Amino acid sequence: MSWRPITSAAAALSLALAVPLAGQPPAHAAGPPEIEARAGTEAPAEVRGLAEPAAAGDPVTAAKAHLTDARYNLDPADLTPLQTVTDGADTTVRFAQSYRGLPVFGGQYLVHFRGTGADRQVTGAGGRFLTELTVDTTPRLTQERAAAIARLRLVTDPLTRKSVKTGAASLIVLPDGPGRLAWKLPVTGIDQAKKQPLAFDAYIDAHNGQPLRAISRLQMEGPATGSGTSARGPVLPLNVYQRADGRYEARDRARPMWNGTTGEILTYDAAGRHVGDFFEPGIPAGTRLAESPTPAFGPAHTESGAVDAHWGTGKVYEFYRGLGREGLDGKGATMLSVVNVTIFGQPFENAFWDGTKMVYGGGGPTYRSLAAGLDVVGHEMTHGVITHSADLAYLGQSGAINEGLADYFGNAIEVGVLGIPMSHPDASLLGERICKTLPPAECAIRDLDDDRAVPKDWLGVSIAFDNGGVHLNSTIFSGALWDIREHLGGKTDKLVYKALTEYMTPLDGFTDGRRAVESAARALGWSQHERRTIARAFERHGIRPGWERALRSDSRVLVDTLTSPIATPDVAGDRYVIDNSSPDGGEPPSILLGRIGGGKPARFSQNAHWNYSPVIDGERVVWGAYDAGANTDRIVSRPVDGSAPETVLATVATPVGVVAAAGPAIGWETFDTTALEIEVWVKKGADPPVNLTAETGVEGVGPVMKGGKLTYRRIWFDNGTMHSVPAIYDVATGKHTVLPEVPSTGPDPSLSVLPTLTSKHVLWYADTDGDFTFGLVRAAHDGSGLTWLVPDGPRALLPSRIDASDGVVTLGLRQGEVLTNENLPKVFQLPLTGGPLTRVSCNRGEQLALASGDGSRVAWTDGSSAQTDLVYRDRPAGRC
Ligand SMILES: [Zn+2]
Repeated sequence: MSWRPITSAAAALSLALAVPLAGQPPAHAAGPPEIEARAGTEAPAEVRGLAEPAAAGDPVTAAKAHLTDARYNLDPADLTPLQTVTDGADTTVRFAQSYRGLPVFGGQYLVHFRGTGADRQVTGAGGRFLTELTVDTTPRLTQERAAAIARLRLVTDPLTRKSVKTGAASLIVLPDGPGRLAWKLPVTGIDQAKKQPLAFDAYIDAHNGQPLRAISRLQMEGPATGSGTSARGPVLPLNVYQRADGRYEARDRARPMWNGTTGEILTYDAAGRHVGDFFEPGIPAGTRLAESPTPAFGPAHTESGAVDAHWGTGKVYEFYRGLGREGLDGKGATMLSVVNVTIFGQPFENAFWDGTKMVYGGGGPTYRSLAAGLDVVGHEMTHGVITHSADLAYLGQSGAINEGLADYFGNAIEVGVLGIPMSHPDASLLGERICKTLPPAECAIRDLDDDRAVPKDWLGVSIAFDNGGVHLNSTIFSGALWDIREHLGGKTDKLVYKALTEYMTPLDGFTDGRRAVESAARALGWSQHERRTIARAFERHGIRPGWERALRSDSRVLVDTLTSPIATPDVAGDRYVIDNSSPDGGEPPSILLGRIGGGKPARFSQNAHWNYSPVIDGERVVWGAYDAGANTDRIVSRPVDGSAPETVLATVATPVGVVAAAGPAIGWETFDTTALEIEVWVKKGADPPVNLTAETGVEGVGPVMKGGKLTYRRIWFDNGTMHSVPAIYDVATGKHTVLPEVPSTGPDPSLSVLPTLTSKHVLWYADTDGDFTFGLVRAAHDGSGLTWLVPDGPRALLPSRIDASDGVVTLGLRQGEVLTNENLPKVFQLPLTGGPLTRVSCNRGEQLALASGDGSRVAWTDGSSAQTDLVYRDRPAGRC
């Protein structure tokens, strides 16, 4: 492996040197204490190099006393102790921040001691404590409304939207600007389109209703593709338990954590029960431990995964015990696994940690149970260790570190237990043993030696897709850790574990994670040579302060830093509109109006509510605004020239989604909270509004208006089979045309999505053969003259968005299903008369919500940098 020369990592850190306090000589410190600041808060990211006498009392009391020092700028009364970790002479106390009694998302602070009794000294402290919070902690949004907004805005598939469950909500403060008060609301079910478990926490602003985050509660591992037939693993020793009836069950009481009441390892056999039954914490009633008439658990238990899960859990327990940890929670709580779940009776070739237990699918035609991979077992259980230590948030960079640590420890456990040398080509592979026939390198889910580095390999997902990048970006961080292990050996496990349990906090980015590892090395007393090796490993993977600024693009930024995950632009002539909060995300989103030609956008909305879904024609801007006090959405309008204030065009009792406008008419979609259906409404001037999808079982989504007409996607179900077609409503005549289904070539009806309008045409994407790739169709407003601009053939499309003018169609298209930068949605154009597709921009990351106005200027939300911006180009890049 070749090493890139080190580029002065120390100089790149923003260090403010502080002198030691008078009268407290740094007897054991290497130099003066260093204080590293953190943007956006007065509390330092880290204070290190201290050697100050600790206050008397237990570690929590002494830590709180230390944090009263003025250098920390925080109030210890806002700290709740979470854990005290002892590692040899080191003791670390981890606190959670609260604000007016509510938890602060990601707010944690740690204090480090060395020694005991009268010799105990404080060696440092750090973390993330938000000193600038001023948010009012009284909610104005009801929990019911929060649940309805979560279904409308955060669940896209109609069947899934109807079938998911929403749990009890709790209040939390999100660390955006002065703080956002949010309802945290669990949403669970099965994604009916992807046939995958769905479980996330929705965070809905409890003052104004804006959806702020959706964070997965399942840490899922999906295997790569492959094919093959049965294979068998080796015979493994198991600790089992003989019951009074003489049978043996997968209950391990042989570990040191067993105290006569708790501290077992239990492995349950779901016996093919549906995975949807296992989302609640703990084990559902009726699920039995894997059992056998003799102590030798037979081949059925190998196929189910019970043998491997039970044996592997013991190995993982012993590994963490070697690092000084009793069980996943560090307190010796019983460790739970469930094997042999299915998805609707079909093989579930996946595994996840749900916060309390490991859940594994059974074997299938292609894969063994994922429990057959000791690295996978180690990976899943490490998620449990992380939950009970730094609790790294499962989105963005902290989510990638979470996944990276799970991979690192999963692989470290496997190479240790199986005796695989670090130099072996399989050592760095994760999940290489779960395939029945594929060779390891083809079977593996990830490779920690894949040489990914920032900025070049950062997966540029936008804020709308925060969970998506956690697996793909993980090897950037885990690769650095694995490099360290390749050079410094198994002692690296101790280093990484100490960084996780004593230095990292939930919202750490890559640079914070590097600092945590480097601080742990210092605390362990590692040599200068070893610390240089660590620095080089992170440098080699590009992890250094400010790496995000090195990402390039070929577009011009209109709005820097979009903080609303649902921000959508519109363009008319030289003007654009978009909904966005302040760059720190602290303010309720307002409508911004700007000129593509230049200049800063101005705030155009005049209310303090959540403003969303703006559309602009030449004359006026129309958008939605939710008034939480009145618990109603309003469709409001204001002249583009700002010559008059906002006026309310319609008041809607149920949550509104997309808004449309043209001439004197407006349209909108709204969520019927009783039928759990989305309906499309239209309203002309002072006339009463008309529901275009009033029939039970009929839904309408995505209204678009142009030239006196409205189109939307009309959806209905027939014995569980989905039908969808474009429908067009003529505002002047009231004529409502539901287009016929495009003829299907397979057993299922064709799918039509994302219809849009020009002055003479309706355009949409249609899938006629059920492969979920789509052609592009154009027809007259009455449905006649159906023309395929892109056929639904071998080169069919993966659509994400569309906009059209009378000359050109602008398309948002994914390039493949696997999450890579190349496959994320990109913007294309083609003539309305048909022709080749042209790339609008060569930006490497996600190009999501788009608007093209008359077709000559395209604006879109872009995640190519490690943030999301509104950007534009006035001519296509052509080929990339
Ligand atoms: Zn994972």
